[in-house]
Amino acid sequence: MQKSRIIWIISENALEGMELYNHFKTLGHIPTHFYTYKEAITQAKRETPDLVILNPDPDNGHGIDLMLQLQEMFNHREVPFIFISQLESSEIIAAALNAGAFDFIRNPFSYVELDARVQSALRKKDIYQDLQEKNERLIKLSVTDSLTGLYNHRYLMEQLERNFNFYTRFNRPFSFIMLDIDHFKKINDSYGHIIGDQVLIDLSNTLTSGRRKTDIVSRYGGEEFGILLPEITPVNAVKVAAKIIKDIRNLSFQPRHPPSLKFGISASLGIANCPDKYIYSSEDAIQLADDALYKAKELGGNTIVQNINGVLTEATSLMRESEKKISIIN
Ligand code: GH3
Ligand code: MG
Ligand code: MG
Repeated sequence: MQKSRIIWIISENALEGMELYNHFKTLGHIPTHFYTYKEAITQAKRETPDLVILNPDPDNGHGIDLMLQLQEMFNHREVPFIFISQLESSEIIAAALNAGAFDFIRNPFSYVELDARVQSALRKKDIYQDLQEKNERLIKLSVTDSLTGLYNHRYLMEQLERNFNFYTRFNRPFSFIMLDIDHFKKINDSYGHIIGDQVLIDLSNTLTSGRRKTDIVSRYGGEEFGILLPEITPVNAVKVAAKIIKDIRNLSFQPRHPPSLKFGISASLGIANCPDKYIYSSEDAIQLADDALYKAKELGGNTIVQNINGVLTEATSLMRESEKKISIIN
């Protein structure tokens, strides 16, 4: 039993159109017969067929322009077009094939031959679609951290580079936050790696919730996370960091052994902002955020430090202010 497909028949010749319609209907497909090009264009706004059979009226052009217009409307989703050629003209057939038609058949035709050509077109379309889906999955995998589902280190580096280029060309600012969980090794040692993994997953969900679509939240490696915030001021970057540190404090975990004991976590955050007199490359932004993070750890963890032109400032006072604002927003 073959799959039922949406097949469009575009034929100004009513008799031939109806014959084709009845044929594909009998085979269990979902055909539509369009008497005019205009009807097909209108329907293309609502539906994408699996295959189009174009039976152009020789007095009304050769149908190539219509195919090109429809292909564009189908978003180039590789819908195969089979032309029924009324003319013997090899030039027109060649032009249709060169313009992207999948196949043609000369009129008068046998339905056995048409069916074989339709099947061949649908098979190739399926293979192409399958490949395209696999390719999309691969692209997604190549930028994703497998444990947390966040963007991975490679993608973060690409995006930092891109944002740095945007800064040098168009003066667009960005901030970069490096976050490191405090005493994470102790969590693994006390409760086991499975709970450690769960901490990383829950923290990742916390980091992504409430972020702008343009923000990049990534796992830099291990228990370290990189958060890229395009188009933000240094003051607002601290507010984002304050919100993050507050959300992390609200997380709670329940280990299985012993089941009663709940625990929380904290993190340290270092912030760098571009422009900065020490940032000449995307790597410099990482280094500056790293220096700030190191200072935050020195101050005992659970802290935000901002690096502005090499001056490291604990952002606690700003944090308190923004925490007040956050509680009003909430
Ligand atoms: P600090 O407060 O100074 O940041 O100390 P820390 O213990 O958080 O940092 P340290 O670098 O000493 O230890 C990080 C630990 O993170 C060690 C490593 O085993 C653990 N880790 C790295 N990746 C994973 C992971 O994918 N899953 C789990 N469960 N643990 C991980
Ligand atoms: Mg670390
Ligand atoms: Mg750590």
